[in-house]
Amino acid sequence: MNNHAKPPLKAECRCGKLQASIAAAPLITSACHCKGCQKMAASAFSLTVIALSESFSVIAGKPVIGGLHGGARHYFCDYCLSWVFTRPEGFDEIVNIRTTMLEDAADFPPFMETCMAEKLPWAKTGAVRSFDQFPDSAEFTTLLHDYAEWREA
Ligand SMILES: [Zn+2]
Ligand SMILES: [Zn+2]
Repeated sequence: MNNHAKPPLKAECRCGKLQASIAAAPLITSACHCKGCQKMAASAFSLTVIALSESFSVIAGKPVIGGLHGGARHYFCDYCLSWVFTRPEGFDEIVNIRTTMLEDAADFPPFMETCMAEKLPWAKTGAVRSFDQFPDSAEFTTLLHDYAEWREA
């Protein structure tokens, strides 16, 4: 038995108006070094917990689309404009929630990091798996398994 945060996990934006809940443990955690994440996160990288869409619900506030308004839908609080979650293009079954919006953010360090090719030279995340771009979808099952073991270790 570990001391990990138990679902439902609560997330909220900077002002607290946009609130969300994750009913089941996230599938994996990640940091992304891509230039887009650097700009949207206003930082060296973005932090994400990836959860099943069916486990995720907005419980207060009104998410509005931001970022590039493209295929990936980036949702922000309509008042404080915090970037709270993203629905990635072509992967309707998952949702990416920004780790720092979680009440229990400290309990979700990044397991993998992506877009290392675009990384700022001094940025370090502590992730244990690194990818120049993104992992192949064929690799995903193994990654989820490895994350679960890493988390319980
Ligand atoms: Zn990114
Ligand atoms: Zn807000």
